[in-house]
Amino acid sequence: RTVYLNGAFLPENEAHISIFDRGFLFGDGIYEVTAVLDGKLIDSALHMARLERSVGEIGGRLPVTTDEIVAAERRLIADNNLREGMIYLQYTRGAEDRNFLYSEDLAPTLLMFTQAKSLDQGSVMEKGLKVKTVPDQRWERRDIKSVCLLPQVLAKRAAKAAGCDEAWMIEDGMITEGASSTAYIVTADNKIITRANSNATLPGCTRAALLQLAEEHGLTIEQRPFSLEEALNAREAALTSASNFIVPITVIDGKPVGDGKPGPVVTRLRALYMENARKTAI
Ligand code: PLP
Repeated sequence: RTVYLNGAFLPENEAHISIFDRGFLFGDGIYEVTAVLDGKLIDSALHMARLERSVGEIGGRLPVTTDEIVAAERRLIADNNLREGMIYLQYTRGAEDRNFLYSEDLAPTLLMFTQAKSLDQGSVMEKGLKVKTVPDQRWERRDIKSVCLLPQVLAKRAAKAAGCDEAWMIEDGMITEGASSTAYIVTADNKIITRANSNATLPGCTRAALLQLAEEHGLTIEQRPFSLEEALNAREAALTSASNFIVPITVIDGKPVGDGKPGPVVTRLRALYMENARKTAI
């Protein structure tokens, strides 16, 4: 596999990062995951805009333009013959002797690699996913896509131990989001409920694309927090993320959502999203 590191395209075993990299020592970095379908990038402009914002919020600067990043991603897709999977991108503040403060002229680290994976599977649409709830133990700037993912690693671990596919995190009695996904419910009167963007959650790119589509198709969206109790009484539930698109959630903490089967609203949203994603891929 060819990977990208600081402007160079290299075989993966020749790409090396310093042990002094601040991403490694401090988690001082930002990442993005972009899905690839039919060899093309999904929601690329949204991911590039969020990347620029996250890097800006930590006082960093991308070493190349986002156009150059997209060009590099497309070259990796071509060189690695990637048809379906994802591109992972990581930016870190760079490498120097360990110190919380950093040199202003430090050269950042920028890396990208591809990962092949089958993403658009029908099986998940037939059964849906199981979710376990856990306390949200993260920091207060969850709008920044930081590589500090230990709370999410622990949440996913707890979910797996309970036989679940994803963790939903709870704060002040309300679901914030999934460990690596945005959370939704659909009410009995077919309203799609998801939190409004704020510092409490990561603004999902899949969420942004999906909500725009839902609005265009006349579906009702309510952006507000919801509780576990409301989710358990909802007709449908779902999650979105770049690598899952939108998938139904049929079980929360061992209890069925609605009739325990994927429902019509989420199934329709999936069809709308997939059609649009393939049509707007670059
Ligand atoms: N929320 C969190 C905490 C995430 O880590 C992710 C993706 O990894 C998402 C939401 C979904 O964001 P996106 O749709 O941009 O992948």
